[in-house]
Order: sequence, then C-alpha cells, then structure tokens
Amino acid sequence: MDILVLGAGQLARMMSLAGAPLDLNVTAYDVGSGHIIHPLTQQKYSLALAEAIAGCDAITAEFEHIPDDVLTLCDASGKFYPGRQAIKAGGDRSIEKALLQKNGVPCAPWQLITERAHLDTAIESLGKPLVIKTCQAGYDGKGQWRIKDGSDIEQIWSEMQAFLHKGSTDHPHSIIAEQMIPFQREVSVIGARGKDGKVAIYPVTENEHSKGVLTLSIAVPVVESIQQQAVDAFTRLSTELEYVGVLAIEFFEVDGQLMVNEIAPRVHNSGHWTQQGTLCSQFENHMRAVAGLPLGSTEMLGVSAMINVLGQSSIPVDVLSVSGVTSHWYGKTQRPGRKMGHINVVADDRHSLGRKLIELSGYLSDEHYPGVLAMGNVLVNSK
Ligand code: ATP
Ligand code: MG
Repeated sequence: MDILVLGAGQLARMMSLAGAPLDLNVTAYDVGSGHIIHPLTQQKYSLALAEAIAGCDAITAEFEHIPDDVLTLCDASGKFYPGRQAIKAGGDRSIEKALLQKNGVPCAPWQLITERAHLDTAIESLGKPLVIKTCQAGYDGKGQWRIKDGSDIEQIWSEMQAFLHKGSTDHPHSIIAEQMIPFQREVSVIGARGKDGKVAIYPVTENEHSKGVLTLSIAVPVVESIQQQAVDAFTRLSTELEYVGVLAIEFFEVDGQLMVNEIAPRVHNSGHWTQQGTLCSQFENHMRAVAGLPLGSTEMLGVSAMINVLGQSSIPVDVLSVSGVTSHWYGKTQRPGRKMGHINVVADDRHSLGRKLIELSGYLSDEHYPGVLAMGNVLVNSK
C-alpha cells in the first residue's frame, strides 16, 4: 500500500520507518519545494502532486501549516486522513479554541485580536500576564509574545501588527491573547482512532520545555484522574472530528485539573518515547489507522524518557553505552535550536529511569540538554 505524507520532515521519516514492516510505502510531499520525495533518502520523484494523490492509497500529514488549496485537493480524493477540517483546527488557534469550547473541553481563557483596541480589552478582561500567540504559522514557541507588566506593549504591538499585515483577504492573519496559566506541570496525551472508530490511547506524558521548546518527555504512570481527563478530551475531540490517525493534545495541569493548551492533528514530539516504550509506537499506530488496519496495543514496556537533541551536529555516541538507550537522528541540516534528533530511554521503574538520566547527563551537558540531570534526581528521589 502506498501512503502520501504532506510534509517531508522527521515525522514523515519516522512514519516511513514504522510503515515499512507493514508493507506500507511512504512518499512525502515537500511543501516548501513542491517536490515528491522519499522521506529517508530525500530522493526526488518526477511526479506532480496531483499524480501522487491519484496514485496513492491513503494521504496523511505530518504538520498543520499546509496551503488550503493542497488540503482541498487531498480532501477531494476521499482518502485523506485525518482530513482538511482536522488539519485546519490544528493550524489555526481561533478555530482550535472554538472546537474546544463547542465540545466542552476546558482551555485557557482567550480573546481574538485583529486590531489595537482588542489588545487593550484583552488586558482588561483577561488580566496580566498574557501570552500572545499568532493564530497561524506558530510552532516550537515561535510567533509568541509575553506581556508581563505592560511596559513593552508598544514594541509588542508593532510586531503583532506586522504579522497581521502579512495576511491577505483570502488568508487573513489573526492573533489570540491567552491568560498566562500558572500550571504545575505540562502533560500531553497521544491517541489513535481507526476508520472503525476504535481508539488506542497512550499513557499521559509529562513534558518539560525550555524557551518554549520541548526538551524532555517523561512517561511514568500518572494518577488515574489525570489519565481519565485526558482520555475524555481525546474522545470528545476525536469523535467530533470523525478523526482517523494519531491526534495529540497538550495540557496544562493546574491543581489536578487539565486545561488544553493546544492540539496537534498528527504524530507528536511528546509521543516519540512510544517507539521503544510501548508495544506499538505512535508512528505505527498512525500508519495502521490511515491504512485501515487494526490498531496496536499502547501498553507500556516499563517507563520511558525522551530527550530532544536541539541544534546539535550529532548525538554523542556514548549515550548508547547506557542500557535501554536508543538514538534517533533525523538527518537534517544543522541550525541553532532546530530539532535534530532525539534519545529514548526505557527502564523498569522510575528509580532506574532516574539513574539512567543521571548517567546520561555525563554525556549530555546541561547547556545543550537542559533538565536531564535535574529530572534524573527528581525520579531517583521520588517515592
Ligand atoms: P509547539 O509547536 O512546541 O507545541 P507552539 O509554538 O505551538 O509550540 P504552544 O504550545 O502554544 O506553542 O506554547 C509553547 C509553550 O509556551 C507551552 O508549552 C508553554 O510552556 C508555554 N505557554 C503557552 N501558552 C501558555 C499559557 N497560556 N500560559 C502559560 N504558559 C504558556
Ligand atoms: Mg505546544
């Protein structure tokens, strides 16, 4: 079976690696260059997008910022999963917020901003501090501003205005202001929904960020009430969207309650640990779902951690000397802060996972891999 992925980055690459043993062949559409390529070798095929759409058995996406005409073309083929509507909801924060509200899923209080007066009302009604986010085009914390005391408001507004002006009549730009949530933790849930409506949901993952970018994910069992709230949000949203494939939901945890930060209609960085940490990874389950195959088990194989490799030229080979550690390199051109690869760690229990992180911190400096040692100590000292 041939599967076309919109987007040709590391997520398409890992879908390809997961699909091969199932006899699912992945080709990728590089949205930037317009070429159809092989997601592992980057080899170009002399195939136009329309031909690739016509020739494949299923279409999916690895990111949400895809031109609308491409989404429409794919939807018209009748084999695009999770489909245009779901991709739009993940790619525009105002559509996403409306979806959450319609389905009674709690999220951070927010307000739409398209002109200066809205910013003042947002400050008045939501209060400071505020997180301002572009509705379109943001990722890895880009396209965001923080308003703390209000002293830099004019500078922030001029940058916001520049973004708003870049929109067109056909594709207007908008911005939202969100209340800054004083969360205790950030967590996420990843789940797959098949064509028959059956779901396979992974255990909730705890996520650590630095400068708005994910650095570490920790998958150790959470209390039942947290898992339940995450499953409830997943069920509501995936049912509403008649979703097929993997859907990720990021949350803030405040006093035992989950509040959605954002959704991602695709495989997600905070689910990379499932490659070694579960019986069937998020990539395999996504491939299975879009191909119409039965979903695989999300049962955990021990406990796991995932460490992002950001802006580095390689992954230190010494990490492989620690048992239960695997390295995943994406083969991308190095750029400061860019997601270049990740390291997965599997252990029997949280103490053993903590010891492995402490051992790894000997090879992974705190400057480039923030939080590895600190998380190791937290896990070793946990009850
Ligand atoms: P990514 O693509 O990495 O998920 P993103 O660019 O889509 O990032 P968000 O997930 O919305 O952006 O925000 C990045 C991070 O900024 C969050 O993980 C969180 O740490 C912080 N953040 C965002 N919104 C809020 C908020 N309302 N209150 C507090 N912190 C926030
Ligand atoms: Mg996010």
